[in-house]
Amino acid sequence: MNDRREFFKKIGLLGLTGIATKLVSNEQLNVIEQLGEQSFQNTKITLPNLPYAYNALEPFIDEQTMTIHHTKHHQAYIDKLNKAIENLADKFVLEESFKTISKADIAIRNNGGGQYNHSLFWQLMKPNPTSKENLPTKKIAESIIRDFNSFENFKKEFTEKATKIFGSGWCWLIVQDGKLKITTTPNQDNPLMDVAAEKGKPVLALDIWEHAYYLKYQNKRADYINNWWNIVNWEKAEELYNSK
Ligand code: MN
Repeated sequence: MNDRREFFKKIGLLGLTGIATKLVSNEQLNVIEQLGEQSFQNTKITLPNLPYAYNALEPFIDEQTMTIHHTKHHQAYIDKLNKAIENLADKFVLEESFKTISKADIAIRNNGGGQYNHSLFWQLMKPNPTSKENLPTKKIAESIIRDFNSFENFKKEFTEKATKIFGSGWCWLIVQDGKLKITTTPNQDNPLMDVAAEKGKPVLALDIWEHAYYLKYQNKRADYINNWWNIVNWEKAEELYNSK
């Protein structure tokens, strides 16, 4: 793609000097100009559907919070991200961009993070209408016990770290050098970004921005976190854990 852009740029310059008119026909010049104007445009990112209804996570997360969070907050990150990538010279690949995000426009860091983090967050929750105890199974359950001694220890540490985040941010379970680790990021940063203090592959994600819980829980962030454990989608976490 870059090579083609470079080529059209050069041809375009030749055209301006008038030299190109001696080398190619008018028809050819028209085609070149049209292609040059079309140049490269990033595909618009769109809001992913929730994998359940807005009220499906009740009573742990209320319908109004889910509706506003998804249709207003998540949508706003996507709108601003689309604006930020619209004039980029290269094809924008969200996860790739995180590797060098420290050099990118801050709007891409904030809104690209917003898009990635929320897309993951929705998938990592699932309805639990019967309020049955929600425990991990399979490999991730084994690895949690291996790296945190017990599920209870893991839950306690994750809950503490999430509760203590100052201001807005996210709490994560990540895989780092083959081990599970709990980490937090400020704002919309995530562990795939080069700016993250702890880098790794996300397996669990918890949104600690007030917009994620304030309508139902107000200042009681700990209650939001304690209730969130009921709706963690451990099957999705297992899938992420086993992915490359
Ligand atoms: Mn959010």
